[in-house]
Amino acid sequence: MNAPEVSVIVPVYNEEEGLQALYDRLYPALDALGTSYEIVFINDGSRDRSAAILRQQWERRPDVTRVILLAANAGQHMAIMAGFEKCRGQIVVTLDADLQNPPEEIGALVAKMREGYDCVGSIRKDRHDSAFRRYASKAMNRIRERITHVKMTDQGCMLRAYSRSVIDAINSCEEVNTFIPALAYTLAQNPTEIEVAHEERHAGESKYSIYSLIRLNFDLMTNFSIVPLQAFSMTGIIIALLSAFFVIFLLARRLIVGPEAEGLFTLFGIAFFLIGVTLFGVGMLGEYVGRIYQQVRHRPRYIVGAVLEKKE
Ligand code: UDP
Ligand code: MG
Repeated sequence: MNAPEVSVIVPVYNEEEGLQALYDRLYPALDALGTSYEIVFINDGSRDRSAAILRQQWERRPDVTRVILLAANAGQHMAIMAGFEKCRGQIVVTLDADLQNPPEEIGALVAKMREGYDCVGSIRKDRHDSAFRRYASKAMNRIRERITHVKMTDQGCMLRAYSRSVIDAINSCEEVNTFIPALAYTLAQNPTEIEVAHEERHAGESKYSIYSLIRLNFDLMTNFSIVPLQAFSMTGIIIALLSAFFVIFLLARRLIVGPEAEGLFTLFGIAFFLIGVTLFGVGMLGEYVGRIYQQVRHRPRYIVGAVLEKKE
């Protein structure tokens, strides 16, 4: 298998019900491109039969299929990183396994890449997700626009294409818990975006609980911006100034008017508010310290159990 033009990276986590339907559309869509390609599936420590189904497919199409079996669940973005390190294409496309991103759109991404862009993002035309997901993701998009330098219209869509140079740059990054589209954007020199169709999840259910969605957004915000940290120190300064004035006011009042016992509860209110702010600040610090901790440990991002590929 010589280096193909296009590599498609598909992370798979508990997708046994949907994989056959994915094969049925992905392979014909890539065959239709009329160029050399490889598909790199990463089994992200699935607990269902996904690994076995991927192995079958590898036996059926070993010429264009490679399978990385991770030993444990590392998360979607880390699984994609495993694929990036293994893939050899000049144009690298990421795709979800659940058919929410139609594989037929890969052709459009590849065509755009051939025009000379080094990163082609995508905007979902009409999104088929729950209303909660749509609104939450819009809000997070807006916050990200404000506090990071990453300009993406639709951060959530994973159907994207990257050039070999961007992939090499990503591979040289040692950080863990990253958010690939944003990382690629910061490394790309000539990015662009196109509109792509979006569909209902073909089978199974979303692998993201509210908890993991919140974690993912923390990855995005704190990896690409220190504004949350700065925002806290700024609020801290303002609140400290205001309370200093307040203390002076209370002191003056006590000297002029005399002590007041009724004001006790106001003070309680203020104290609780400050405790809240402090706790939030400590939490925010914890976010960054946690990241430093993860980074200094230099743990591997994932552990490969096996790689299924043809001998060269
Ligand atoms: N995924 C993964 N590891 C995980 C969670 C998800 O490899 O820990 C894969 C999953 O199999 C799918 C893709 O990432 O191919 C996107 O997941 P999902 O469709 O559940 O996310 P959503 O569309 O709800 O954002
Ligand atoms: Mg999905």
